[in-house]
Amino acid sequence: MAPAISSSTTLHSREEAKEMEQVEIDWENLGFGLTPTDYMYIMKCNKGDEFSEGHIVPYGNIELSPASVVLNYGQGLFEGLKAYRREDGKLILFRPDQNASRLQIGAERMCMPSPSVNQFIDAVKETVLANKRWIPPSGKGSLYIRPLLIGTGSSLGISPAPEYTFIIYASPVNKYFKEGSAPLSLYVEDEFDRASRGGVGCVKSITNYGQALRPLTRAKSRGFSDVLFLDSVTGKYIEEASAANVFVVKDKKICTAPTKGTILPGVTRSSIIEIARDHGYEVEERMVEIQELLSADEAFCTGTAVVVAPIGSVTYQGKRVEYEAGDNLVYKKLLSTYTGIQKGEIEDKKGWIVEINQSSS
Ligand SMILES: *Cc1c(COP(=O)(O)O)cnc(C)c1O
Repeated sequence: MAPAISSSTTLHSREEAKEMEQVEIDWENLGFGLTPTDYMYIMKCNKGDEFSEGHIVPYGNIELSPASVVLNYGQGLFEGLKAYRREDGKLILFRPDQNASRLQIGAERMCMPSPSVNQFIDAVKETVLANKRWIPPSGKGSLYIRPLLIGTGSSLGISPAPEYTFIIYASPVNKYFKEGSAPLSLYVEDEFDRASRGGVGCVKSITNYGQALRPLTRAKSRGFSDVLFLDSVTGKYIEEASAANVFVVKDKKICTAPTKGTILPGVTRSSIIEIARDHGYEVEERMVEIQELLSADEAFCTGTAVVVAPIGSVTYQGKRVEYEAGDNLVYKKLLSTYTGIQKGEIEDKKGWIVEINQSSS
C-alpha cells in the first residue's frame, strides 16, 4: 500500500517488458509443485511498530540470522490463497480478506505484529500483477499465493523476535493430489496427533506441519492420498486431513468438526458450509465420531489447495471402508456452485470475489 507511486510505476514498466514473454510451462501437466516465479513481496516491521513500506523484489533466497526466532523457535505463520484468470481475462481473488484476518488472529496467538487487512490484500494484488505471466490460462489451474509472516529477528532465549518479515511468493499450480479428481483414499492416523488442546491447531502456524510429515509420508508410502487425524484427547473424533477440512454426509445431512481450538478454520470450509445451507442442506458443526465417518453415505475434503475433493475410501485400524461414487453426490453440487462463483458463471451475491485491477495497481 505504502509505496504506491514508485512501485506502481516500476511495476508498470516491468509488466510492459514481461507482457509479451511466454512462460515455458506445460499447462496440461501442471501439478501442485513449486514453480518459482519472477517476483516476491517483502515488508518488514520491528517489534512494537507497524508494517509499512513493503515492496516487490526479484524472487530469490532471503538472508536470515542463524539466531532468528523463526528458525530456532518456530515463530511463523503461513497463508494460502489463489488468483484465477477468468475466461474474459479478468484476474480475481477469492475472499482474500478471510486469509488476512486469519493471519491476524494467528499473529496474536504467536506474539507477532501483522499487516492490516488492506495491506495484506494490496500486497497480494501486487504480487499477482508482478507475476501475471505465470497465472495459468483460464481452466488450467491458478496462481497459488503463499504469504509468510515470520520472526526474523534474533534471540538466544525463548522470546518474541525483535523483527518480523512478511513475505509473499507465488507459484502456478493445478491439481493438489496426483489422483486429479479421482476420489481420495485416507488413512486414519491413530498413533500420531496433529494438534492438541490449547495448542495452535486453529491457526496456520508453521509448527503444525513438521510433525505431520512422518504420518503423512508413511501413509503415502502405503499408497494413501492423505492422513486423517483424530482428536488428541480421546482418539474418537475426526479432526482433519494434513491441510484440508473433512466433511461427512449421512441421509443428506452434512457435518464437520467444529473450529474449536484444534481445527484450522478453512476459508473453503466456511464457504462450503454457506453454499450447502443456501442449497437447503442441514449443516452441523460438531464433534464427529470416527464410526460416523465409517458409516457415512459420502465424505469429502475442502481446502484452497485441494478445493473440494471426494473421499473414496477410509482405512481405520486395518479396516477399509469404501464410499459409493455417483452423479448425485452432495459434494458435486457444492463444488459446482463454488467453482461457478469463482469462474463468474454464478452471480457473486456474497461479495466473495475481489477483482484485481490490471490497468493501474
Ligand atoms: C490451510 C489448511 C486448511 C484449509 O484452509 P483453506 O482456508 O480452506 O485453504 C485446512 N486444514 C489445515 C490443517 C490447513 O493448513
